[in-house]
Amino acid sequence: MHRKVVIIGSGPAGLTAALYAARANLEPLVIRGLQPGGLLATTSEVENYPGFPEAIGGFELMQRMEDQAARFGARYLDDIVARVDFSVRPFRLTTDGGEEVTADTVIISTGASPRKLGVPGEEKLANRGVSYCATCDGFFFRGKKVVVVGGGNSALDEGLFLTRYVTDLTIVHRRDQLRADSILQERAFANPKVHFVWNSIVSEILGDEKVTGVRIKNLQTGEETVLEADGVFPYIGHVPNTGIFKGQIALDEAGYILTDGRTRTNVPGVFAAGDAVDHIYRQAVTAAGDGCKAAMEATWYLAEQEHAARKAQAEEAVAPALGQW
Ligand code: NAP
Repeated sequence: MHRKVVIIGSGPAGLTAALYAARANLEPLVIRGLQPGGLLATTSEVENYPGFPEAIGGFELMQRMEDQAARFGARYLDDIVARVDFSVRPFRLTTDGGEEVTADTVIISTGASPRKLGVPGEEKLANRGVSYCATCDGFFFRGKKVVVVGGGNSALDEGLFLTRYVTDLTIVHRRDQLRADSILQERAFANPKVHFVWNSIVSEILGDEKVTGVRIKNLQTGEETVLEADGVFPYIGHVPNTGIFKGQIALDEAGYILTDGRTRTNVPGVFAAGDAVDHIYRQAVTAAGDGCKAAMEATWYLAEQEHAARKAQAEEAVAPALGQW
């Protein structure tokens, strides 16, 4: 299978790239990946995507994006890319399902996954009080008590966002010093709803149908205590889903894809958008914006390549004639 544009991943970045590439008549192929619709499809309500004043379910929003791109000619493959080879032209992609796809351009939009605590109860109570997105789910914890885990910018930023809704917020951090910027630290220390538990980790999330509390272990004394809570928000970093691109394109130390500010990677013809690149904003609307940029860049790149090929052909045709003369 050969395509002018292949998009890896189907979150807001990938599907917006698909919409723009499809409208440019490029018939893009979207390889949907492990989680069709990306992280957003697992979010119950999306209240901050412009255009939906009454909110929209995450799954429905992603379904609409998919349908919109399909209407203009985008095609979807339910498979996972296992290997890529960007050292050859056209680029080569091999899927878990055994498909061999070649592409003139590739848009990477594989996203990032929240780093998990890896403790008992976390998986079972996901979306039942365990959430990795305060911006998405904070509203559902109005009047409740929640625990945030971590001491970085995300933990404090998202924790402070949660204080709009919750009555009580406990930040559990494994050290006695925060990693977060001092301005966020000052705001958190000044907020009467925020409490800290230092030198500690969450060793278990408690509850059957929904979260009822957490077990906290003090790393210095080994003492364990139980704290009642309705929600747990782990903010211990994200892991970009870029393992298959190692050695193929430039990544930073944390594995995020390096681009030039115009979604271009260090390999001409390979573009990247969304959370696999962005470790700061991580919003559906910013990912969608980047997806649009990546598709426009891919379109311009293809046009340049076609122009260069035509010019080379014309020069080849003229050269023998000139030789005769
Ligand atoms: P981060 O800076 O890597 O912080 C992760 C936090 O989780 C650290 O405090 C770390 O503890 C803790 N942690 C890591 N693994 C843990 C584990 N297994 N158990 C318990 N705690 C653990 O990640 P982030 O906060 O998501 O930020 C990512 C990037 O986005 C950063 O560059 C950040 O500056 C940026 N960001 C910026 C803003 C802003 O400017 N407003 C907002 C959000 C994010 P230690 O401190 O002990 O390592």
